[in-house]
Amino acid sequence: MKIVLSETLSYCIGVRKTLELTDRLLADRPDRTYYMLGEIVHNEHVIEGLRAKGLRIVQTLEEVPAGGVVILQSHGSTRRRYDELAARGLEFVDATCPMVRIIHDRIREVEAQGRVPVVIGQVGHEEVRGIVGQVARAIVVKTPEEVTPELFDGVRRAGVVAQSTFIEDEARRIVERVRALVPDVVVHDTICQPTKTRQREVERHTRKADRVIVIGSRHSANTRHLFNIARAINPGTHLIDRPESVEDIVLPPDATVFIASGASTPPELIVEVVRRLESRAPAADGKDGTA
Ligand code: SF4
Repeated sequence: MKIVLSETLSYCIGVRKTLELTDRLLADRPDRTYYMLGEIVHNEHVIEGLRAKGLRIVQTLEEVPAGGVVILQSHGSTRRRYDELAARGLEFVDATCPMVRIIHDRIREVEAQGRVPVVIGQVGHEEVRGIVGQVARAIVVKTPEEVTPELFDGVRRAGVVAQSTFIEDEARRIVERVRALVPDVVVHDTICQPTKTRQREVERHTRKADRVIVIGSRHSANTRHLFNIARAINPGTHLIDRPESVEDIVLPPDATVFIASGASTPPELIVEVVRRLESRAPAADGKDGTA
C-alpha cells in the first residue's frame, strides 16, 4: 500500500492560532475564566482537553458572568456581538482570522458603494453569520440554482463575497448566474488561500489514488467540501471522523491511498488513521478490494 499525505493536513492557520492563543491564555492567566462561544473544532478530545485546562464553552453571551473573558473564534463575529460584549461590559480577546476580517471589510465596502451585498456560503454557518452581520442586509446563496430572478428582482448593482472555505468552482458558477441577472456586479475573491491550496491538492491527488480518505467532522463545512470535491472525481472516497472507521474501508492490493483533512481536524487523529492503515497488511484485509 502506498499512502500519500496531503501537504496541507490538519489545522489551517486561523484555527491553529486560536488554539495556541487559547492555550496560552489558559496557562498564563489561571486567575481568569475564559469562555468560548461554541466549539472551535468538532473533536471531543480537543474540546475535553481545553475544558480540562479551564475553558468554558457556552452558546450565548448571556451565559458569561461578569468578570469572564470571552474568546472570539477565528471565523469572526457579527457587529451585534461586539455591541453586546460592550453592553454587558465583558472583556474579550478577538481571535478572528485576518483573512475573515478582509471579508468583513469587503462586504462593508460593497454596502458603502450602494451595492446589494451577496454572500456565497451556507446560511446559518457561524462565519456566514459573522459576514452578514457586518451589513444591514445581504443575499446569501450556496448553489447556482438558488440564484433566481425572483431573489434578485430589482437588484441593479451588487457586490459578491464568499465564505472563506467555499468550493472555488461552485463559487464561480454562482457568480456567473449573478452576472447574468444583475447588470453591474463587483466580485471579491475571498476564498482564503489555505482553502484553495487544500482543495487543489485534493483535486490533483484524487485523480491518481485508488482510495481517498478525508478525515474530519461531518459538521465541518470545509471538510464536507473536500469530501464532495474528491467524491465527484473518485467514487472510492471516504469521510471519516474516528480512526476506527478506517478499518471498514476496503483496500485493493497495492492501493494508493490519498489522505486529506479538514481545517479543524486535530493532528493526533490523522496520525492514528495513518498508523492503523500502515498496520493493515493487504493479506490481513481478507478483502479483494471490490468496494
Ligand atoms: S479557513 Fe482560511 S479564513 Fe477561515 S480560519 Fe482558516 S485560514 Fe482563516
